[in-house]
Amino acid sequence: MADLSDLYQQVIVEHNKSPRNFKKVEPADRTAQGHNPLCGDRIEVFVKLDGDRIADIGFQGKGCAISQASASLMTGAVKGHTLAEAEQLFDAFHAMVMSDPKAAPPGLATLGKLAAFAGGRQFPSRVKCASLSWHTLHAALHAEGSVTTE
Ligand code: ZN
Repeated sequence: MADLSDLYQQVIVEHNKSPRNFKKVEPADRTAQGHNPLCGDRIEVFVKLDGDRIADIGFQGKGCAISQASASLMTGAVKGHTLAEAEQLFDAFHAMVMSDPKAAPPGLATLGKLAAFAGGRQFPSRVKCASLSWHTLHAALHAEGSVTTE
């Protein structure tokens, strides 16, 4: 069996190379822009709602591999889910990346492939890259328009 951290590394490399849902959704019901000035990552998230469900979601942006892979995985994780489920995932992801790097990351069963970003916990600047897309989604769902990690 391959080492778990190698597997996670592969997930990030692969999603950065071929990001899922890298598109503008038109017309979008909710959009928001996110900026991580520390790294220069920029992202825009587009959400199409069907009642309280995320019917479609896309993103566009530029930035480091972690920020782009995170946006790809985030959009895949919440697409088709309700707003409440998306918020739960946001909370679980946030709790994982903010957890003590010396301890086992919490919530892995819920997070699936999103656990790939647990490896960044030792590096606070990387945590901002990994969580940018989630904060941008959160801003979109709360109609906040834009968000910055600073
Ligand atoms: Zn970055």
